[in-house]
Amino acid sequence: MEPILLVHGGAGFINDDRKATELLLGVKEAAKAGYKVLKSKNSLLDGLEEAVRVMEDNEIFNAGLGSVLNLDGEVEMDASIMLGSNLNAGGVTVVKNIKNPISLARRVMEKTPHFLLAGEGALKFAKREGFEILSDGALVTEARKLMLENYKKKLAEKKLTNTGEAELGTVGAVAFLNGQVAAATSTGGYEGKMVGRCSDTSIIGSGTYADDESGAVSTTGHGDSIAKVCLAHDICKEMEAGKSAQEATEICVNKMLKRLENTAGAITLSVKGEIGIAFSSNRMSWAYQIGNMLHFGINKNEHNVEIVN
Ligand code: ASP
Repeated sequence: MEPILLVHGGAGFINDDRKATELLLGVKEAAKAGYKVLKSKNSLLDGLEEAVRVMEDNEIFNAGLGSVLNLDGEVEMDASIMLGSNLNAGGVTVVKNIKNPISLARRVMEKTPHFLLAGEGALKFAKREGFEILSDGALVTEARKLMLENYKKKLAEKKLTNTGEAELGTVGAVAFLNGQVAAATSTGGYEGKMVGRCSDTSIIGSGTYADDESGAVSTTGHGDSIAKVCLAHDICKEMEAGKSAQEATEICVNKMLKRLENTAGAITLSVKGEIGIAFSSNRMSWAYQIGNMLHFGINKNEHNVEIVN
């Protein structure tokens, strides 16, 4: 079977059509870049890392550069990665001043006996591994500063209602190669989060999961709910019980909405190479490449196909 690389650019309340167009361009670019590396290096992890890095470097997404700000106006990021063949996994949480948290998460997986490193410890490890440590504020964009100001204004005016649907933009990728799967996810969290808040994205089983006995999943959306239902793992368990990737993804995303009244989205690849894409938010950008065909969409029931040269 042909390799597959599928990415998402976050589920949430995206009502600005110009932003939707930019998100779509961003996920298409990431899917193509990741697919190229997946094929040329014949490596699931290299393909995933490339796809996620491309989105972390694009400030339209809420990951790496362009991450949303915590209440103190700082960027604190989370990321995780997992390989289905041996269940190896690595993550970082509440990490600052690292350009590509997904690469640090991979290093945690490959170079430590742990699955998750937090804050200061993660930074210490990054330094030891030769990662560049950026100066404070280097990942803070003007657009995110403005967003936080508006958020605080609304908070003061008590105009904020907790609909559970914010304009998010977490990024993630899943890949299939020679009957094996892997998954990766990266985020800045959500606007107005408390300092030190740890997201579902860093947690294996919630934001990211991969097992060659079922499939690979990357989730996005209301993280504090996603973590409570262990969404990524839940989807894998449904596949293990015989559901297709699409059925499993829809069932679990809808189950979370019913149970906790918060929205989410997920992308899934089964070990059979089936694709699952579902979201309960109004939009979620996604794209995948198989062979020279690029598939993409952002609205409910939207599925476009383009030939890649
Ligand atoms: N799940 C992320 C978080 O709660 C946000 C997102 O997916 O956009 O931090």
